[in-house]
Amino acid sequence: MNVTTSLRAVERFRELFGAQLQVGVPLSRYTSARVGGPAELFLVVNSAAELETAVETAYAQRIPYFILGGGSNIVVSDAGIRGLVILNKAKNVTFRHTGAGVICIAESGANLSALARQCVSKGLGGLEWAVGVPGTVGGAVVGNAGAHGADMNSNLRAAAIWEPGRGTRIYSNEEMQYAYRDSILKREHGKEIWRRVVLSAELSLTLADPQALAARAEAFTTHRKQTQPGGASCGSMFKNPENYYAGYLIETAGLKGYRVGGAQISQKHANFFVNDEDATAENIRALLAEAWNSVREQFGVEMELEIELVGDWRFEQ
Ligand SMILES: Cc1cc2nc3c(=O)[nH]c(=O)nc-3n(C[C@H](O)[C@H](O)[C@H](O)COP(=O)(O)OP(=O)(O)OC[C@H]3O[C@@H](n4cnc5c(N)ncnc54)[C@H](O)[C@@H]3O)c2cc1C
Repeated sequence: MNVTTSLRAVERFRELFGAQLQVGVPLSRYTSARVGGPAELFLVVNSAAELETAVETAYAQRIPYFILGGGSNIVVSDAGIRGLVILNKAKNVTFRHTGAGVICIAESGANLSALARQCVSKGLGGLEWAVGVPGTVGGAVVGNAGAHGADMNSNLRAAAIWEPGRGTRIYSNEEMQYAYRDSILKREHGKEIWRRVVLSAELSLTLADPQALAARAEAFTTHRKQTQPGGASCGSMFKNPENYYAGYLIETAGLKGYRVGGAQISQKHANFFVNDEDATAENIRALLAEAWNSVREQFGVEMELEIELVGDWRFEQ
């Protein structure tokens, strides 16, 4: 057991969650890049109420927590994450008809692409852009995930958000302060603070022809297959800088196919870094550094990470 957690705190979690709490679970199993060392403590929650209890308890016990959705926008260090990692499997989804359309209330651990497909088959329009976006509703609400000209900002009416030391309140869309792959919650990343947690989201949908929606979704999926590599990755590593595509800059810097250990800058799309030979997190970080430095040297552009580096990276230096 690490210094981060006291035995008393672990006992409290065991009382509340029993076998849902585990110790030393490798996070490579739960991240789309298939890298990452162990979570010191690992808790699976199955409802928004459990998620709220877990973060309340961790905060009260002063145990640092990290919410893990689909793990598709993070690179977890090889040293892993100290404190408590909460795997969010709160998946309940309901639909409410209003005069003007339909409101979907989704718990934050619901799978976004599965929800988008469900909406398509129910004839509910607006979320088709998300059919190929991995991860959870919560991760998408935090990162303002988007594709094909739309994003979470275009769907989100409101979100129930737990605030450390204050409890849960409803945020309006405006309060999320959305921008390109950015929100008020994403701006907390990288800071040594207790983060806010999305419990559920209300999404606005419109009534539409299921066949037309299915055709749109199919076109998006085909486009994705044509332009993006399969296999283990985090999707786009860097945000597109103003007036540029990050992939174009990395490719033009001559880095397509560049490899460090088991990780490679994709031949198909240079903003995707693929783990194709048992890569370590450190391999991926080395690629990030190479791409960032080369692009800055050659184009004078300082790219911003879209993904988040999580865990303790200082252990490896
Ligand atoms: C092949 C591939 C394609 C992709 N394509 C796209 C794309 O087209 N568009 C796009 O926008 N993204 C894309 N991504 C990136 C990724 O799918 C999105 O960023 C997604 O929204 C991340 O959700 P997640 O649940 O996996 O988040 P995670 O990676 O688990 O977490 C990301 C961050 O959000 C935080 N977080 C997660 N859930 C919560 C919560 N409930 N409350 C508070 N914080 C939370 C985490 O703590 C972490 O800081 C792609 C990724 C891959 C692997």
